[in-house]
Amino acid sequence: PSVTAVLPAAGIGSRMQADCPKQYLTIGHRSILEHAIDALLRHPRIQRVIVAISLGDQQFEQLPIAADPRVSVTIGGRQRADSVLAGLQLAGDAQWVLVHDAARPCLHADDLARLLAITEHSKVGGILAAPVRDTMKLAEPSLGTISHTIERQELWHALTPQLFPLALLKHCLQRALDEGVTITDEASALEYCGYHPLLVSGRSDNIKVTRPEDLALAAFYLTQLDN
Ligand code: C5P
Repeated sequence: PSVTAVLPAAGIGSRMQADCPKQYLTIGHRSILEHAIDALLRHPRIQRVIVAISLGDQQFEQLPIAADPRVSVTIGGRQRADSVLAGLQLAGDAQWVLVHDAARPCLHADDLARLLAITEHSKVGGILAAPVRDTMKLAEPSLGTISHTIERQELWHALTPQLFPLALLKHCLQRALDEGVTITDEASALEYCGYHPLLVSGRSDNIKVTRPEDLALAAFYLTQLDN
């Protein structure tokens, strides 16, 4: 069965200190957003990509990929969850929906294929995630000192894409919004509602371009992609 994807791309990317939202910065000849969309469309089962952009965005429609018949656009909202929910409204009766950050251009085809293959047999979906490598400290915020070390075997970086049953994701995102909970990925909304999505091990070079120094790193990783 086909899978619909939603890309929240309505953020302003303030940590990037650039004069346009980070998803429109270019690496090679294409924007980060186009690299991200293209990585999804190369999978034969992904036949629709819905991009949530900010009100007043005039850059998206100028991208060549905006003319692809598999790509649709909608207006996102104040928080990430609002933007994802806006995208889900266009997903029709899709059974599964894949959510991917607009700012992750370096997704490998084999990671995407593994996420789809493993997660679809679950009831609540799952996410790509990478094991933490560094020793992790919990801070005493007011003192600037270490409270204690957190066992890193139990810690993972949450990546995207994340795949969930459409109806379940809608329900959980709406509840998190209604109850004033801020979530930074879709799995958090499911966790908030008591579900336990699968962790699917993914590559750590699937980075989210967030700070200026990430651009050079993403450019290098893109040259390594053999998709
Ligand atoms: O800010 P952060 O890097 O966590 O944003 C992750 C993704 O969520 C980005 O692709 C950004 O464009 C998107 N986003 C959104 N709507 C918002 C805030 C963020 O679509 N209101």
